[in-house]
Amino acid sequence: MKNIILLGAPGAGKGTQSERLVAEYGIPQISTGDLLRSERKSQSALGQEAAGYMDSGKLVPDDLVIRMVEKRFAEKDCAAGFILDGFPRTVEQADKLGEMLQKSGKSLSAVINIVVAEDILIKRLLGRRKCPACGANFNVYFNPPAQEGVCDVCGAQLEQRKDDNEETIRERFLVYQNQTQPLVNYYRGKGLYAEIDGEQAADEIYSRLRQEVEKLCGQG
Ligand code: AMP
Repeated sequence: MKNIILLGAPGAGKGTQSERLVAEYGIPQISTGDLLRSERKSQSALGQEAAGYMDSGKLVPDDLVIRMVEKRFAEKDCAAGFILDGFPRTVEQADKLGEMLQKSGKSLSAVINIVVAEDILIKRLLGRRKCPACGANFNVYFNPPAQEGVCDVCGAQLEQRKDDNEETIRERFLVYQNQTQPLVNYYRGKGLYAEIDGEQAADEIYSRLRQEVEKLCGQG
């Protein structure tokens, strides 16, 4: 069983690295940020409630996020494991996650923190662009498309996330420091925790991540 949490500040590479784990292990990535963005797109009540928090870089209230994750866990594809990306983000969410898993006879296998210095994170976030049509990711500083603003893969216009602006990024970092960073100590004592250097090339980060996943998930 591989029940994995990826921790890391905004821009640390949790999404990119999750995609690789999905491809290798065939377990789903559960990104609460992606789930919330799709709720917004469909203009659900939850999406509308979450919008203001997301646009100002604040956390969406715990009970909304927890309900959404509970629903996602009930889907069949989570039976053999999952990769949590962006959840839990508070001690309250971590406690609830523990209860949810316990109720279904499961437990966490690994909590892996991808660590990156703040100046690099800011550049990554400001440069981030995504293709709304095919999902391809680019970065104007680190991985620019051949033609500015246009997807190399399918030719659609690239988009920038609304919360990837300097002011909201500062708020997201503050929120991370105050509300999410305490999870490091929360999980460290449980023998499931590892840290990896997220400033290397994506392939190297993945190779270290994979090693930690094998080590921690092999234990139990
Ligand atoms: P992300 O895509 O993970 O950077 O999340 C984007 C935004 O969605 C965050 O800034 C929060 O407003 C909200 N969000 C995502 N995951 C959570 C969570 N676990 N708890 C509360 N808010 C969240």
